[in-house]
Amino acid sequence: MQNNNIRCPIHPENESVFFCQDESCKDKRIYCHDCQRENSHMANPYRHHPINQISLFLEESQIICQDLLQFIEESFQQILQFKSQLISSITMKYRITIQQFNNMEIQSQCQVIDALINSKNIIKTIRKNMDNPFNQILEKIQDSIRDLRLEEVTYLAQNNQQFQNLFNQSKQLFQSNQYDQALEIINQAISIMPRDVNALNLKGEILIKQNRFEDASQQFRLALIERRNVQSLNGLSECYMRLERTQEAIQLSFEVLGIDNQNQRAQTMVNQLIY
Ligand SMILES: [Zn+2]
Ligand SMILES: [Zn+2]
Repeated sequence: MQNNNIRCPIHPENESVFFCQDESCKDKRIYCHDCQRENSHMANPYRHHPINQISLFLEESQIICQDLLQFIEESFQQILQFKSQLISSITMKYRITIQQFNNMEIQSQCQVIDALINSKNIIKTIRKNMDNPFNQILEKIQDSIRDLRLEEVTYLAQNNQQFQNLFNQSKQLFQSNQYDQALEIINQAISIMPRDVNALNLKGEILIKQNRFEDASQQFRLALIERRNVQSLNGLSECYMRLERTQEAIQLSFEVLGIDNQNQRAQTMVNQLIY
């Protein structure tokens, strides 16, 4: 990438020549020869880099960021995996229905009652074991969110506004059945915010209207990685229905009804799929 049109923020008549990577630097990060002559960025001259290395710097920063995201993702996956194991173990051992109980032999019935009587201590211990670390983890996560200080970052506001305009424009086009144009605009929005759930969902809905169910399902799956949400589940269910993956479609619609049992779209879907 050529950066020959990056201007100096102090001397806009000049092209910039360097950028400064000194952590403690308070001058503008991008600067020109005139700035240098005026003795800015003198604190640490070894952190000066030619401006044409900016793309390299951005790429390296992306890799560091990606590593952190992956670490967070994997940590939570591990927690979720153990959560499932813990829940299924507790369920297997202690959630015995009357019907199950009635179908057991007398020895097993005695064992069940014994297990349930002794369950109180174990349940108390599990709760105690988990309470403390979980509160601590939640606090640490909140600390990290605070440390990012998003409220101080003004370039995000600029991006947000641009993104929001494109999103609204695409939604209007979608509502007036102009799907090709809607798709073009939502792609621009997604290039600004690639992980925005609403934008991914809208793109999915547009692709459904274009009968591109595989492509649409991919958008909803991306959105679901960000956040388990009703609109993506509904959209994905519809894709699976149209792709004749009926079982998966039913499962997703039931998941929606588990969250919101009045959900019209999921109710309609279940009626179509089952009856
Ligand atoms: Zn300058
Ligand atoms: Zn500097």
